[in-house]
Amino acid sequence: MVVIKPNRVGPFPFPKSDPEERKNDFSEVEQPYTKEEVMLEADRCLRCGTPVCIDACPVQLDVRGMMDAVANGDFRRAYHRIRETNPLLGVTARCCPQLQGLCEDACVVRWGGQPLSIGMVQRFVADWEQTGSRQPDPGSEPLTGKRVAIVGAGPAGLAAAELLLRYGHSVTIYEEAQNLGGTAWYGIPDYHLPKDVLTYEAERIVAQGAKVVKGVKVGRDISITSLLSESDAILVATGSRDVKKLDTPGSDLDGVLDGYEFLREVYGGGLESYIREKHRNLGKEILVVGGGDTALDCARTALRLTRGHVSILYRRDEKEMPADPIMVKEAQEEGVEFKFLSDPSEYQGLEGKLVGAMVQSMRLGAPDSTGRKRPEPVPGETAIVKCDSVLLAVGRGPDSFLEKKEGLRSGPRGAIAIDARYMTSMAKVFATGDATTGETLVVKAMGHGREAAQMIHEYLVGLEDRHVSLYEQYYTKRATEDSYQDMLSGREVEQPPD
Ligand SMILES: Cc1cc2nc3c(=O)[nH]c(=O)nc-3n(C[C@H](O)[C@H](O)[C@H](O)COP(=O)(O)OP(=O)(O)OC[C@H]3O[C@@H](n4cnc5c(N)ncnc54)[C@H](O)[C@@H]3O)c2cc1C
Ligand code: SF4
Repeated sequence: MVVIKPNRVGPFPFPKSDPEERKNDFSEVEQPYTKEEVMLEADRCLRCGTPVCIDACPVQLDVRGMMDAVANGDFRRAYHRIRETNPLLGVTARCCPQLQGLCEDACVVRWGGQPLSIGMVQRFVADWEQTGSRQPDPGSEPLTGKRVAIVGAGPAGLAAAELLLRYGHSVTIYEEAQNLGGTAWYGIPDYHLPKDVLTYEAERIVAQGAKVVKGVKVGRDISITSLLSESDAILVATGSRDVKKLDTPGSDLDGVLDGYEFLREVYGGGLESYIREKHRNLGKEILVVGGGDTALDCARTALRLTRGHVSILYRRDEKEMPADPIMVKEAQEEGVEFKFLSDPSEYQGLEGKLVGAMVQSMRLGAPDSTGRKRPEPVPGETAIVKCDSVLLAVGRGPDSFLEKKEGLRSGPRGAIAIDARYMTSMAKVFATGDATTGETLVVKAMGHGREAAQMIHEYLVGLEDRHVSLYEQYYTKRATEDSYQDMLSGREVEQPPD
């Protein structure tokens, strides 16, 4: 009898590139495990009977099945366990903030020490497949003759397309941009998510049989009504775009930029072409305003482009900062300066060009309606800070273009309103992803996209009365349980302590 005895040697911290070197280029910060390391790390998994890590993953990835396969050096089995529910496996391995409410946060090993590095194990398997051990895609059911148009090729639209294709429906994706991946393409920097990984996985989905129409903005170049005439259902997955407008005096000066547009400018057409053409001179003294991941992405991108001095101004303190603490640490290691409890009250210019900012010191007062402590100005405490550019990264909401243009009903925060079956106020039109929730995460948008695809499938084949989760409806749960039974057969599994 084989006894699974989780290894107690680890954890195996994965390496990161040297901050002094990496701040000069856009190469990946996190470095992969070796084969030996990944097997040892995966073998720390306790193969829990009730795997909370799977519940915590928005696409219900079979973490336990993946870990068992990797621990046994069976990367092929690991790949297929992951690919069952996650077609963007290398992408999510890199960009899920695993410790923030996702798989690693839930991992029970965490209570006795370091949680498993689930993302890095997943990444190893994705890289193994991408770099030579090509595996077949999951099979599809026979063609149904039903046609679905998807608006937007971001993570939500792509994940929905993949599931609809597997159900045998025909899928056409309409995408305004020239690249697939949505915000994961133009928002997430190359040092965090190399674009060849995103392109490879997005194109694999398309190769399962989707038709893609690029460079077409639905609502401007083609209407929803005309799409409806040639489709049985439409799925709107247009993401977030509407940037919060600030009324800080001087915001219209040359040199005060929207951080989202800056990232889109740098990464949208491909980093190499941006660097080759050197679109914009940011100068050497750069201020970034905001406390989220976008602020960090702007700061670390600006640092790499300019090798100048980059500071992040945030009006609350470090504890209240919503950004991923791992990213904050990486930025600090690279030399980004953080100025907490600081808020620009005015941008100052000379002949229309930004030269500095008046920065107001803040303190935290009583909690506001969201329960967070409200930042308040400290009377009389201001300072002038010299700067050449300011990048504003203070949040954005769902893209309202299509919603307004086509008269779709709005929900909270201007998002597209959907019912429990992901249907909008317009017949046959469904919506999903950040367009309906506000900005979330790649993996959450994917989970939402898969749920919407399941609803569309049920609508198209007349199964709308069912009220169970995607995990139950699709074969995810069965396959996950089968994989566990395989794991148990002939083996004794040591369970975690209560
Ligand atoms: C700077 C930044 C960094 C981020 N970093 C991370 C991270 O590290 N990890 C993480 O998990 N998440 C991150 N996110 C969030 C993540 O990228 C999004 O939550 C996710 O991409 C949302 O997926 P989506 O498919 O709903 O929308 P999107 O990815 O926004 O895709 C929408 C797509 O629809 C297209 N579109 C819009 N309107 C139309 C139209 N009318 N016609 C045709 N096409 C249209 C757009 O061009 C786009 O391709 C980040 C976001 C930003 C802004
Ligand atoms: S997809 Fe993301 S949340 Fe899910 S198991 Fe992988 S790394 Fe964790």
